[in-house]
Amino acid sequence: MFDTVIWLEIHIKLNSPNKLFCRCKNEQEFDDLTPNTHVCPTCMGQPWALPVLNQEPLEKAIQLWLALNCTVQLISQFDRKSYFYPDLPMGYQITQFSKPTNIDGSVTFFIDKEFSEERTVWIVDAHIETDTGKSIHSAGAVTLDYNRAWTPLVEIVTHPEFSTTQEVIWFLKHLQRVARFQDVGDGDMDKGQMRVDVNISLKPQWSEILWNRTETKNMSSFSAISRAIEYEVERQTEILNNGGVIDQQTRWWDDVAGSSFVMRSKEDAMDYRYFPEPDMPLVSISEQQLSKISQTMKPGPYERIKTYKDAYKFNKEYINALINDVDVNQAFEYGVAQWNPPAEVAKRLVWPIQRRLNEQQVWFDALAFTQKQFLDFLLLIKDGKLANAQAKIVMSEMIAHGTNPEQVIEEKWLKPVDEDQVKNRLDQIFKEKPDLLEDLKSGNMKPMWFVVGQVMKLSWWAADPGMVNGLIRKIIG
Ligand SMILES: [Zn+2]
Repeated sequence: MFDTVIWLEIHIKLNSPNKLFCRCKNEQEFDDLTPNTHVCPTCMGQPWALPVLNQEPLEKAIQLWLALNCTVQLISQFDRKSYFYPDLPMGYQITQFSKPTNIDGSVTFFIDKEFSEERTVWIVDAHIETDTGKSIHSAGAVTLDYNRAWTPLVEIVTHPEFSTTQEVIWFLKHLQRVARFQDVGDGDMDKGQMRVDVNISLKPQWSEILWNRTETKNMSSFSAISRAIEYEVERQTEILNNGGVIDQQTRWWDDVAGSSFVMRSKEDAMDYRYFPEPDMPLVSISEQQLSKISQTMKPGPYERIKTYKDAYKFNKEYINALINDVDVNQAFEYGVAQWNPPAEVAKRLVWPIQRRLNEQQVWFDALAFTQKQFLDFLLLIKDGKLANAQAKIVMSEMIAHGTNPEQVIEEKWLKPVDEDQVKNRLDQIFKEKPDLLEDLKSGNMKPMWFVVGQVMKLSWWAADPGMVNGLIRKIIG
């Protein structure tokens, strides 16, 4: 029997306005973009155009590093990694190898749906580097698009300490949320904003020495990653059981075929001929810059889950609804800041989301109302301008049509009801059903709650039942 040892290399795209070393726009989505429209001599690799490090992507990277509890090095270096790809215009990538800006991080995350079991994974290094362009294969021809060339990535390398697919997937989902909560990138895998290389090695249970590893490259969906891990563990186990040897390989996963194939063999760091990037000075980060960035850090997903679970006593459905979408979370946090207690705010936010989620997988974007409307809605409840029963009516209209809460109140006559209005409604009821009034007058109080209920219904539950009761007693003398 063998133990499985997995480690990951994850590329997360940063959402800074510009590319890493030039002033070209750093687009987040390329599908609808005309090829080669966000390019300049620098990111096209013209020999006379030199790279200059932009501060925004560097600061976004620092935010991500701090969120991963990394030690940020104040002096670090860019290195040149030489390899040839048609979509790499310079024939090399600018990355960090010998002196990365940050090392030794750790990430604690939950690995189950109940948010009860935790794991901590260590990060070897998380460095900043450039992305490549894109090769587009169509109609027997290959064309090249450099819009993505030199856009900023952070590559995160973990220690070899995962042993199951489940741990890997929960870790990646956590990482995606870390990036989103710090607003450094969306990590949207469909858009290639988070790409994962999985290294897998087996070892006998009685030994600490790993057999040769394979690396399955560049996967960008959770299901592909899960299937690729299962496939590779099975493949290696079979080879070892038959007395074979694992070749150190880089493989690519074909999700349609459900199998992986060899890309290259025996690839080591020396194959890339790393050396200090001659066109770039050392990267210097001041203590001041670092402390300024630390102050802007927001609580990450782990801290938020802990608060929702331990301090607010929310159940897993509430926690899920609140951490899966940054906009929902923001609406909740604004709400809590304006109006405690958190359970009241969560109840009113999670209800519409769950109603929507039951219909289809959608997030805050698909709700018709805005964060501001949600906050206005909470303030109306807080200020006593909207009774609990009415709140549901208002929320239903907000979900369906994105109507402002005040407008719903206006249109549906949901304003607090005064004595005169209640009297009018009582007159109306007794006029339609005079026997009710006679019964009450003769001392038979059975219809009392029926009448109160009718008034409440006619006034959209905005009337005070105590007041209605008192008025009925006045009428019957
Ligand atoms: Zn450029």
